[in-house]
Amino acid sequence: LTVLGIEASCDDTAAALVRHVPGAAPVILSNVVAGQDALHEGFGGVVPEIAARAHAEALDLTVEKALEGRGLRVVDAVAVTAGPGLIGGVVAGVMLAKGIAAGAGLPLVGVNHLAGHALTPRLTDGLSFPYLMLLVSGGHCQFLLVRGEGDHRRLGGTIDDAPGEAFDKTARLLGLPMPGGPAVEREAARGTPRIALPRPLLGREGCDLSFSGLKTAVLRARGDLAPDGALREGDRADLCASFQAAVTEVLAEKSRRALRAAGPVTAFAVAGGVAANGAIRAALEGVAAEAGTPFAAPPPPLCTDNGAMIAWAGIEALRQGRRDDLTLAARPRWPLDEAAAPMLGSGK
Ligand code: ATP
Ligand code: FE
Repeated sequence: LTVLGIEASCDDTAAALVRHVPGAAPVILSNVVAGQDALHEGFGGVVPEIAARAHAEALDLTVEKALEGRGLRVVDAVAVTAGPGLIGGVVAGVMLAKGIAAGAGLPLVGVNHLAGHALTPRLTDGLSFPYLMLLVSGGHCQFLLVRGEGDHRRLGGTIDDAPGEAFDKTARLLGLPMPGGPAVEREAARGTPRIALPRPLLGREGCDLSFSGLKTAVLRARGDLAPDGALREGDRADLCASFQAAVTEVLAEKSRRALRAAGPVTAFAVAGGVAANGAIRAALEGVAAEAGTPFAAPPPPLCTDNGAMIAWAGIEALRQGRRDDLTLAARPRWPLDEAAAPMLGSGK
């Protein structure tokens, strides 16, 4: 089964081909990502209008590149992110996927973007269910007990910002380029975590997290270090190191609790853009080791948004007998644990 995956829900236009033969490890045949960072620079964030237009323009070529001249003959099905995300991009992706599926007579399957992130460790590390997943990205932060395709239980999550958002805001406050995560990580590597920053909700029961206070604390610390506005290079690196240390410590402690709350699992896995961070990966690997649980973290390019995770989630859905028709709709909001929660009156 070879599936074309299409992703356009945020600020990366992505497409990939993934092949799965039962009994063998899946193979990523191609994985093409066209970022939009340059387009949104100077706006202080992703501009939905610009993103939608850029997706519409980049999608055809991105898919063509992913096919690598093979044509659609090698493709058995089309998977596309149907939400959650910025509606303009999601619609553009879904329309293209429908066009390809209808034109070439291929099955179509709509994929939840978060399920794509959450199932990635099965693509990269062959994990079996159930596993504990920390999904930590630009828009999300949650602990999920992944029990099957479309079967996730949320154990806890952020009550305000996502860590990726906090990395991006911190970068912006300190005059670093976007995306903020990699920039802050580079700076942090040259600094010392000597500046006291809060560890929000660290002492609270359960595995909920909070990150909005942290960026306010960074703003205050920046003001203390540079009352006249000009932050010294060394201070900036120290502030980045201190911020990263705070995020890391909170994620590690809450992961410890989530592992205890999850019950028996095959592994502790981490995914989403922030999982590309080396310090965070190392700390979480340590937590898994303490608990005697295997640890899995996809390679960084498969942690951030990509088409391979969508193709793979499509493969998993198709193997469960799930597919969509041309009425597939884009869903700006689509909580991951919705499928697991019985809907009133649905008789499930
Ligand atoms: P979501 O998946 O929640 O819809 P998204 O798709 O925008 O959001 P991802 O592409 O998964 O998010 O991740 C992007 C986020 O990851 C950005 O906020 C970015 O700053 C952060 N990030 C990327 N690399 C790193 C890193 N090395 N350290 C910390 N954060 C990082
Ligand atoms: Fe994402």
